[in-house]
Amino acid sequence: MPNEICILCGNETTVDVNTHVDHRIGYIEGAGQLCISCYRKGNSESREQITIPKNWVLDYPNDSELGSKVRAHYWNQYVDKEPNEPIICKYCGKDTSQVEYDYLIGTDHLECCLKQD
Ligand SMILES: [Zn+2]
Ligand SMILES: [Zn+2]
Repeated sequence: MPNEICILCGNETTVDVNTHVDHRIGYIEGAGQLCISCYRKGNSESREQITIPKNWVLDYPNDSELGSKVRAHYWNQYVDKEPNEPIICKYCGKDTSQVEYDYLIGTDHLECCLKQD
């Protein structure tokens, strides 16, 4: 039986293609199999994968255009907040990113909210 090919480096892994995913080491759900050396590299975050539509590679012949498309896709699909979304109180307009949650309603000052009522 052939072995799986590593999705990162393209080398053959030691995992038989018929091995159930529950019994595999280095298998990433939705992405595929890693070889042992790729699996051992880095932390768990570095092993996380994102998927992009295959046709983007052909639709965006310009590398930097494709890059920015992938980056935007990452922020949209895999990260909760927009990178540049301002975290401010809508009443006083001050930055509230460093304010403790106890003193906030959403991104607004609890105090400012109360003053409005
Ligand atoms: Zn590998
Ligand atoms: Zn405020």
